[in-house]
Amino acid sequence: MTGPEVPPKAAPDPLVIRSLEFIGPMATSDGWRPTNTLPEIAFAGRSNVGKSSLLNALVRRKAFARVSRTPGRTREINFFAVNQRFVLADLPGYGYARISKERQAEWRPLIEGYLRKSPVLAGIVQLLDVRRDPSDDDRQMLDLLAEIGLPTIVCVTKVDKLSKPQAAARVKEIARELALDEEQIIAFSAVTGAGRDELAEALVSLLDSLPPAGEPEAPSEG
Ligand code: GDP
Repeated sequence: MTGPEVPPKAAPDPLVIRSLEFIGPMATSDGWRPTNTLPEIAFAGRSNVGKSSLLNALVRRKAFARVSRTPGRTREINFFAVNQRFVLADLPGYGYARISKERQAEWRPLIEGYLRKSPVLAGIVQLLDVRRDPSDDDRQMLDLLAEIGLPTIVCVTKVDKLSKPQAAARVKEIARELALDEEQIIAFSAVTGAGRDELAEALVSLLDSLPPAGEPEAPSEG
């Protein structure tokens, strides 16, 4: 007999938030946007997918994403500097079912304009609700990201609403439907905290893979 079992040590937080600062909103595709040189990571998903909850869990603040929800701000892209290391871009939720078709497509000019014309955009976190089939808007978004060639991290949200095997089966289905690699999908819950560290780790490794800011590309041969 050895002594009592030692509980496993909690893994260190891959993304400790030391500073978090609202920089400002972007309201139109040619409107104000940050002029910083920090890499940007954008978060996208349909309204109600759980984006605010995911962001609050990610940065471990209860009401961080509130600014993005104040009236007038929900249609804007809100930028936050995190640890002076990267800029988090909270994209407006798209495709709210209760508004008209015309209104639904409104997301496109701003979001597309931003995604296509952001020199420092390093990647995007695309959220999908575990219980829902991807909508037309979700597919349009993923097609756009593939076309632009933007590194994309897919997070499936609200996995606590299903049993573990059900959630795993849904992740498989979503991966198949969208022709994604199942291994690349992060199963997330703002309620249990599942996937929070995995997402943080994915963001950190994305940032670590970038060339240092301001450094010229390696010269080509010859
Ligand atoms: P947003 O519109 O994408 O920002 O979504 P919210 O974060 O406001 O979430 C929409 C609704 O889903 C709210 O009622 C949340 O409480 C709920 N919700 C968000 N994330 C989770 C989750 O991980 N688990 C559960 N059970 N509910 C969630």
